[in-house]
Parts: sequence; C-alpha cells; structure tokens
Amino acid sequence: MARYIFITGGVVSSLGKGLMAASLAALLQARGYKVRIRKFDPYLNVDPGTMSPYQHGEVYVTDDGAETDLDLGHYERFTGVSARQSDNVTSGRIYQDIITKERRGDYLGATVQVVPHVTDAIKEFALAEVEDLDFVLCEIGGTVGDIESLPFMEAIRQLRNELEPMQTLSVHVTLVPYIAAAGELKTKPTQHSVRELASLGIKPDVLLCRSEHPLPDGERRKIAQFCNVRAESVIPALDAPSIYSVPLQYHNEGLDGEVLRGFGITDAPEPDLTRWQDVTDRYFNPEGEVTIGVVGKYVGLQDAYKSLNEALVHGGMANRAKVNIRWIDAEVFEGDESDIAAKLEPLHGILVPGGFGERGSEGKIASVRFARERNVPFFGICLGMQMACIEAARLAGHDNASSTEFGDTGEPVVGIITEWMSKAGLQTREAGGDLGGTMRLGAYPAHLAANSHVSAIYGGATEISERHRHRYEVNAAYRESLEGTGLVFSGMSPDGLLPEIVERPDHPWFVGVQFHPELKSRPFDPHPLFSGFVSAALRQSRLV
Ligand code: GLN
Repeated sequence: MARYIFITGGVVSSLGKGLMAASLAALLQARGYKVRIRKFDPYLNVDPGTMSPYQHGEVYVTDDGAETDLDLGHYERFTGVSARQSDNVTSGRIYQDIITKERRGDYLGATVQVVPHVTDAIKEFALAEVEDLDFVLCEIGGTVGDIESLPFMEAIRQLRNELEPMQTLSVHVTLVPYIAAAGELKTKPTQHSVRELASLGIKPDVLLCRSEHPLPDGERRKIAQFCNVRAESVIPALDAPSIYSVPLQYHNEGLDGEVLRGFGITDAPEPDLTRWQDVTDRYFNPEGEVTIGVVGKYVGLQDAYKSLNEALVHGGMANRAKVNIRWIDAEVFEGDESDIAAKLEPLHGILVPGGFGERGSEGKIASVRFARERNVPFFGICLGMQMACIEAARLAGHDNASSTEFGDTGEPVVGIITEWMSKAGLQTREAGGDLGGTMRLGAYPAHLAANSHVSAIYGGATEISERHRHRYEVNAAYRESLEGTGLVFSGMSPDGLLPEIVERPDHPWFVGVQFHPELKSRPFDPHPLFSGFVSAALRQSRLV
C-alpha cells in the first residue's frame, strides 16, 4: 500500500519545498523504500513549456517527453528515479481534460463543478500508477492561501479522509524570520500559516521551519503548542551550505524519523547515507578548480539553467574539482572582437547552452570560433550545437549560414523539421503550427560512430538515449561541407537523418550535442559528457 506525504508551503514562496520533498524522498529511499515524487502546479498553463525561463526557471523534460516544472529535476537528481508525465499536473491540464470531456458530452445532464469534478481529477492524478511504491510525495506549488491552490487543498483534505487512517501525512514548510532589530526569531507567521491550512481542513503533522538562525528550544515548543503538533515534529531547517547537504542536515534534525513515526512505522531500517556522505565530501573537499564560461541568453536568472548548473557541479564532483561558473550574456559579444578575448581568455572551458530566438546568436557563434581557434574545451548543447555547426559552415565558406529560427536564410544550416520518427511512429508538424508541446521532446536514441571521441566518453557505447527539446535540426545536407572543416558528425539518429552529435577530433575537447545531457546528470552518477568536459577544463587550467 502506497503511503502519501502531502507537502504544502506557507508564509512566503521560494522556501525550497521542492528541495525539501526531494531530500525527504532521498532519505526514505536510503532506508530501502520505493518512492516517487509528484508536483501539483496550480497555474493555468497546461504545462510550463510556453513560460519564459525568466519567470519560471527552466523547463524540465522527462524521458516520456513531458515539459515539466523544474522541481522534477530536483526530484530526479536526489532520487535517481526518472520522472514521468504522470508526475506533474497543472490546473490548466486538469481544466483542459474536464472541458474536453464536457464538450464531448461525457457529463451529459450534470453541472460541471470544482467540487467534485476538479477535485476528483486531482485525486485521480495523485492515486494513479502507485502500485509498486512505498511512499508517494505530493508537493503542492504556491503558498497556502493562494486562490488558485484551493482545489488542490480540498482534494488533499478529501484524500486524507478517504484513504486509510495512517496512510497520509501532511508536511507544512514555513518560514521563521529573524527580526534583527529585536534580535529575535518570530513564530507568528508560522502560527498564522498553520491556522490558514487548518481552516482548509488540513492539520499538519510535521512542520519544517526554514530559518537563518538556529531555532531555540523555547520557540520550538511554542510553535508546537500553538500549531497543535509534537515538539519533535517541529523540524528546524537552517539554510544549507549546499543543496547536496540538505538530506544529511534534515536527517540530523530528525525529519525522516518523525515522518515514519507519523505513519506508525517503528521498525524502519536505519538509512544508508554513504552516497550522500560521498557526494558532500567531494563537493566540500575539492582538489582542483576550474572556471567555465556559460555563454547564453538567460544569464540573469540562474534557475533558467538549473540542470546545467547542477550537471557542471556533478562533473566537478566526478573530478574532485570545484567548478566556478561565469555566466556571460552572449549579446555583449555582438560588437567588439577584443572584448571577446578579454572575457573568454581567463576561462578553462566554454559552454554554449540551449536557448531560443536570435538574440545573442552572433555572440554565441563568436564564442564557438574563439574556443575552436584557441583550443579551449568547448561544449555546445542544443542551440549550442546548432551554433557550432553554423560556425563551421561559415568556415567552409557559407558566409550567410544561419538558422531558419532567426528568419529567412539562403543557407539554412539549421532548419525546422516537420517530420521525424519517434517510438510512437512518424511525428508531423506544421511549420507555423502551435508552439505548446510541439517540439521534438523526450528520449530519443542515437547511434555513435565507433572509435569516436563521444563513444569513448560514453564508455565505448555506440547506442545511447538522451532527452530532447527543440524544434530545429542541423541540416544533414551540409554534412560533407562541415566535415571538410574537421567537424565530424559522430552521432546520428538511428535512421541516419538527424545529426545528434558533432565533434572536432583535432581539438582538445570540442563536442556539440543536439540533446540535453544535463537533464540526466545526478550527483552520485555524473553525466559522462560533463565529467569529460570538466576533466578537459582541468587539463586546460594547467596550461593557462
Ligand atoms: N531554439 C532551438 C530549437 O528549437 C534550440 C532549442 C534548445 O536549445 N533547447 O531547435
């Protein structure tokens, strides 16, 4: 029987509920339990695919091609469990399904209402595909009291009633602010937030209190008393020096023990935390250091490149190196060449990440050229690989080489694809069709050329599977011309039509990939491309 842990947040947003859910799941997993984490997003977008990365951070793509909330990235990184479409739902998707059914006549005769129709759909989502699980953690986006999260709270309330008495648990994450002028931690916001939650019919069992200062015993007892929980269930959650120390920190504060106690489980095995001890040891005790420049567009908000940031950290862990990331706005390279050299010369590796739109593209191409000419390790991801191919095409004499994403071009080295093969068969798109959910999304296989650099990076594999999220492809018609410049097409789709990986064998480390390897990197299982790139950057750091 799967047990449910409902995670809500109070007082303010950005308390790190996602990280908390991921850490709790990791701790339960360390005790041998099978876990899965789900995210309920109250906004009306059907998925976050069409939201600006500035607004919402990165869009995380699953193997099965869902465009999901970035918290699912935390879940995967902390548990190693691959997320699925069925792990993220939004109000938009729920309403879309209900309205489609209503138009079809499925509810004929009935008035369609938030209760029961919307709440039933939310419950159905929570209860689906849980047969082999011990714990399902459900994180509700937003903050208690938000208008749009009300149907989700109501669905939880109903589930708490309908499931077995000891089958559900409510964890509420709050903030205990420090008022410097008074020199005191304040518990009132937590009390109010719990009261708000209680008014919706949900009594929290465990409170996780985020705070910048240690929570004195007196305050802990006060919170317990006013909020109607045991003092041991008031878990202090101090800011952590790294997200990877959070599982160990929460374990030391007793979080997983309290959660198990809440379910009446007294015979749980002690957790095996060696994986987390190793990860934090590698993170906090590096033996080398590199600086990687990420030349992109959304550099103002690091959440926009969340998985990339983490994958670079994992690559550092694999090499016992500290990775400093310098975020560089590609637009600053659109003018002066000397500016490029000044910014890029101090770097040990240059990475051009995924992105959309023309802005900054010439700056990205200029960074590729710099990395190629100066033998600096280069890693191009998705749009970054496309830019590497345009750079090669210009080197081959196609002066106007460009992408049709940036407007009409006589030299479409990168162009839109309207047909491709997926596991589900031939996929077709109209060039001017809908933008939501219409890209090449999710896991696709690629064949690697034997004896290529990437095949060696993947441990000699010639068959890999990686996740995609893009609308445009490198045009294989230019292959011969580009290979003439030394850029080898070392990975292709199984039908040989779509370029998946390019590399330069005559360069210390130059790899472009059409997919997003950062989505599959985990701290205890760093992605080989990131380990390889950081290792090359370490070699470079000894040269400069
Ligand atoms: N904009 C490019 C495309 O759609 C690249 C997308 C990406 O980098 N994720 O093909």
